Amino acid sequence: MTRAALQAAISGRVLTPGEDGYDAARTVWNAMIDRRPRFIVQCAEAGDVVAAARFAREYDLELGIRCGGHGIVGHAVPDDGLMLDLRPMGEVTVDPAARRARVQGGAMLGALDRAAQQHGLATTAGNVSHTGVGGLTLGGGMGWLARQHGLSCDNVTSFEVVTAVGDTVRASAGEHADLYWALRGGGGNFGVVTEFEFALHPEPGRVVSAEFRYTVADARLPMRRWRDLSGAAPRQATYTATIAGLEVALGLVWVGDPEEGTAVISDLADELASVAEPAARVVEPMTYLQLQTREDDVEGHAWRRYWKGHYFNALDDELIDSLLARDGTDLPNVSLQAYGGAIADVADGETAFSRRDTAFEFVAASRWQDPGDDEHRMSAARRYAATMDRFASGAYVNVLGDDGDAGIRRAYSEEKLARLTAVKDEYDPENVFHLNQNIRPSGR
Ligand SMILES: Cc1cc2nc3c(=O)[nH]c(=O)nc-3n(C[C@H](O)[C@H](O)[C@H](O)COP(=O)(O)OP(=O)(O)OC[C@H]3O[C@@H](n4cnc5c(N)ncnc54)[C@H](O)[C@@H]3O)c2cc1C
Repeated sequence: MTRAALQAAISGRVLTPGEDGYDAARTVWNAMIDRRPRFIVQCAEAGDVVAAARFAREYDLELGIRCGGHGIVGHAVPDDGLMLDLRPMGEVTVDPAARRARVQGGAMLGALDRAAQQHGLATTAGNVSHTGVGGLTLGGGMGWLARQHGLSCDNVTSFEVVTAVGDTVRASAGEHADLYWALRGGGGNFGVVTEFEFALHPEPGRVVSAEFRYTVADARLPMRRWRDLSGAAPRQATYTATIAGLEVALGLVWVGDPEEGTAVISDLADELASVAEPAARVVEPMTYLQLQTREDDVEGHAWRRYWKGHYFNALDDELIDSLLARDGTDLPNVSLQAYGGAIADVADGETAFSRRDTAFEFVAASRWQDPGDDEHRMSAARRYAATMDRFASGAYVNVLGDDGDAGIRRAYSEEKLARLTAVKDEYDPENVFHLNQNIRPSGR
């Protein structure tokens, strides 16, 4: 097994330990991940994916797939295996007349947002522009447009995929429909996606973001009021709340006509103030691209990270009390983001993505720098999130940790899992693609 043989087979670059660029290429978003692949293949084209995957099979190397490198548990980076680094395949081509974007498998969300906005178009993407289109879309893809246009995966009209045996196939409603179904929510289990085709929507790019800030001690009644109003919110509004330390921010993000948004926000402000005056109000008009990059720095690289996630079908009063029970130190920050709208319009059986009846997605996220704090910070996050276990109705596959089959059962119903397993049996019976939230083939 030689580096030269691998390099001869591909047009991109091969990196091995010690070479220039190797450490940068194996570094992912979560600084807890420090793994050393035997080979990193920086794929320049789909043919490189085929050749590198064949090489990995021939030499029995574990295969990791890296797009944005934001997967919280770092499945993209295999220790002593072969990492397909798709980032050189990061192009986005927009056809404004057809309202379609062709997005290479290693593109970042920012590239998709920028290319589409040049034509006054957009599709659902996540909240941080350095996240990869690949992992985000294959697991679902929640963003500020989802209540209007569905999840990212709901907007994929076709995928070009390199399968476990090295075939290149197109999956859409009319071709390999079972694979098309599984790729919309089933993660990186079924092959390497070298191209996504997305539907785009007219989006003039005007946004208003609103936050009303309270201390934890004062937030109970306003949070209940905020929850009551969220159910009837127009689709342009995504209700969102954060808890950082002992500060709670209740609000919404409005994507649409700013005047209409300002009126909705002003109603929310009045309602909240009627139960408790906020300590601060922050109402900011901005462009869609500003919204899509505003968390880029605070969600930057080089921090050690740990997450726990839940889906909640309702935020009842007791759950709100648990969220606000912030008596420990070093607790994780919390974000709540409303689902509903177009996400729930799609019938559950239509895609692998599950739990479409979710009202709010919850993520408890810790970050720190000293490895000596690992255990303490992770156990604080686990303890806090566990106080909400009984209210949860599953979890988003893209925020699961290393929870194995138990995590998979939180993400998918038994029925979904059976169907996903059948697709896995067909396209990857040897479980070549197992470094992910793994759908195991039958009998494995
Ligand atoms: C800062 C931050 C913000 C986030 N915000 C959001 C958000 O707003 N909405 C949301 O829904 N999620 C969000 N997430 C979660 C995000 O969806 C997942 O972390 C996702 O896995 C990131 O994808 P990636 O391509 O960046 O990661 P990677 O680590 O590169 O990939 C994760 C996994 O996806 C698979 N994969 C990636 N690309 C491909 C491909 N082309 N073909 C086949 N398999 C592939 C592989 O199995 C890989 O291990 C966020 C995460 C972070 C860290």
